[in-house]
Amino acid sequence: MKIITSIFELNKEIKDYKNIGFVPTMGGIHLGHISLIKASQKRKSKTIVSIFVNPTQFNKANDFKKYPRNIKKDIISLKKLNVDYLFVPKTKDIFKFRAKKFVLKKKDKILCAKFRKGHFEGVLNVMNRLMSIVKSKDLFMGEKDYQQLYLIRKFLSKKFNVRINSCPTIRAKNKIALSTRNKLLNKKSIKKASDIAKLLNKTKFKSNLHLLKINLNLPDFKQKLEKKFEIKIDYLEFRDEKSLKPTNFKNKFRLFVAYNIDNVRLIDNF
Ligand code: AMP
Repeated sequence: MKIITSIFELNKEIKDYKNIGFVPTMGGIHLGHISLIKASQKRKSKTIVSIFVNPTQFNKANDFKKYPRNIKKDIISLKKLNVDYLFVPKTKDIFKFRAKKFVLKKKDKILCAKFRKGHFEGVLNVMNRLMSIVKSKDLFMGEKDYQQLYLIRKFLSKKFNVRINSCPTIRAKNKIALSTRNKLLNKKSIKKASDIAKLLNKTKFKSNLHLLKINLNLPDFKQKLEKKFEIKIDYLEFRDEKSLKPTNFKNKFRLFVAYNIDNVRLIDNF
């Protein structure tokens, strides 16, 4: 595995490859990231993993500061997987060239875009920069961050003529979706997050089979969950899988949630 930190160096290395698979991450490599890498390798793509903790997507300075980082451990994991290139750009290099600014319209200001002001503008800004550097044929992203996947598909896939491969959410045995942020949870919160994931999964499953009265009283259910688990839920909503509009329960839909536990914000969808 070649570790590259300069954009110039990366361009030189990859300019002749036509089949690049790109897996952008913020590090803290776990089995969720690894599933994306394996999907890229399965395509026989030259796989580039990037690690860049994007400062513009954090709407709270402290959240950025405490985001778990462990580049040494990440390098060991990625080497074992035979990743071709690890790209670890410097912040100043990422922002030194001019690039388009993204502004979300009102209809996209739903779910996390409503509760984390500027978050997706920051994600799109940096993904636009990374994609203009890496110029991959394929991009591998997780359904764990479903709205991110949706917005990148909407705003960037055509621009870069890139195929976006969505990969299913990888969960721990206790059903919590793997996430770098989980490292910030204490034992008690992990138990709660596990119970919440199991309960929401069951709720989605029953709704799918129409076993629950359509759209069970979600505001009520949300309040009950908040009380039972002592959490603050930003949103708990059924939405259409394709359009992210409120679901009619006829087409495929998902149950989306974001909540704060132990001062850590978790998101998931079922
Ligand atoms: P992150 O490092 O959290 O920014 O994630 C980098 C990529 O890995 C994104 O495309 C995420 O959606 C994806 N990812 C993160 N967690 C998981 C997971 N549990 N299962 C599948 N993909 C994931």
